Amino acid sequence: MSDDAMDVIVVGAGPAGAAAALVLARAGLQVVLIERGSAAGVKNMTGGRLYTHALKTLCPENHQEAPLERRVTRELISMMSGSSTVTMEMASPEFADNSYTVLRTRLDAWLAAQAEAAGAMLATGVKVDELLIKDGKVVGVRCGEDEMPAHAVIVAEGANCLLPRQASLKVGELDPHHVATGVKATFELPANVIEERFHVAPGEGAAQLFVGEVTQGLAGGGFLYTNRDTISLGIVLTVAGMLEKKVEPAALMAAFEAHPAVAPLIAGGRMVEYSAHLVPEGGVAMMPEVVGDGILVAGDAAGFVLNLGYAVRGMDFAMASGMHAAETLIAAKAKNDFGKAELKNYLTRLKQSFVLRDLEFYKHAPHFIGSTPRMFGAYPKVATDMLRRLFTVDGTTPPKHAVTLAREALKGRASLWQVAKDGLRGGRAL
Ligand SMILES: Cc1cc2nc3c(=O)[nH]c(=O)nc-3n(C[C@H](O)[C@H](O)[C@H](O)COP(=O)(O)OP(=O)(O)OC[C@H]3O[C@@H](n4cnc5c(N)ncnc54)[C@H](O)[C@@H]3O)c2cc1C
Repeated sequence: MSDDAMDVIVVGAGPAGAAAALVLARAGLQVVLIERGSAAGVKNMTGGRLYTHALKTLCPENHQEAPLERRVTRELISMMSGSSTVTMEMASPEFADNSYTVLRTRLDAWLAAQAEAAGAMLATGVKVDELLIKDGKVVGVRCGEDEMPAHAVIVAEGANCLLPRQASLKVGELDPHHVATGVKATFELPANVIEERFHVAPGEGAAQLFVGEVTQGLAGGGFLYTNRDTISLGIVLTVAGMLEKKVEPAALMAAFEAHPAVAPLIAGGRMVEYSAHLVPEGGVAMMPEVVGDGILVAGDAAGFVLNLGYAVRGMDFAMASGMHAAETLIAAKAKNDFGKAELKNYLTRLKQSFVLRDLEFYKHAPHFIGSTPRMFGAYPKVATDMLRRLFTVDGTTPPKHAVTLAREALKGRASLWQVAKDGLRGGRAL
């Protein structure tokens, strides 16, 4: 290795890469954080809610200074059918600082600035084209004509896990059942209008998830997050469902915006952003090999995302895996050993942390969600029909018992046996 080699090159300034660079720089290692976008965050998107526990671990002194939008104090889950909606709500100031809505251009820029302030070199507008490999070991990267040597590389390039294949790490082909497409629009509205519409105090916000009509019964759902002076609205649906039913995400998105439960919430809002992005949702089953000679893989590139329907988590996994990758390399640097055997400590760290613990714990969730279409089609229809019947007074005598009401609504959609089976499977998986 030449004398001008960096200790570590980190590819990608999303939450995984920036967290890794920050921890490495704090420990005094020479680190370059390379981002292909013109600034950190400009190429990135998320639904919009960060569970803050990992950020607090990463920045114990100054996490309050991070550009968080609103503290989520209202959680809503809505089942849609036709133009009807049934919503379950949990509102509580006791959520404290469990989660905040975020916008990636601001959050990623702040995280990258923290890494720079700690001593990392941030190179934006630079795309890593290739890994440099010598005798089977990763020894740097090539960006265009430039070769940059390093003792180790952390790949945090997001959902498209391309670079690790060059180092012969086992990376499965993207399975359309395990990958979803997300489409999101951001609408600008004055802060006081958002607070009135969502019944929240200044600084507080709402998170609303939708299932059913929003994806026309396909596996996936919709989301709405209130930011300071914008609303993030979007849909996520599996690539398999999209291909099978030949639906256009943009058309679904337009129908979602016009839905009677959604249109009044964004009324008068000016669309300031529209973007699309992949989400690796297969859980631990789609995890590629994340350790090699001189290379570690973190964040979405490693498939570290957990979608449970009621909670979508990727950014906390990204930050934590970036931190664990960095700590592994700090220990490796102390021994001057960046070989695969030493770097396997990364896996041990991940297993001891919530990253692999949670992914392993919920390992049946992606299969359950993907193989239970009734959750996205029949059940939202049953819920809206049942409650419409319950609340309708038209001179006919409604059935007295909930079971009779449910039976009526289930007719032709699902048997009580199927409901019980789905309930049991769901209980085990989620
Ligand atoms: C629609 C949608 C909704 C979501 N909702 C939530 C949510 O509410 N909460 C949550 O926690 N998570 C959510 N997620 C998941 C979350 O956004 C991701 O898990 C998280 O962004 C992963 O971070 P990362 O750093 O691994 O990757 P990314 O954020 O994708 O960052 C990768 C970075 O690498 C850069 N890059 C890629 N290739 C190269 C290269 N060759 N050279 C240089 N730079 C490169 C990219 O430009 C990018 O900046 C959602 C995702 C989507 C798409």
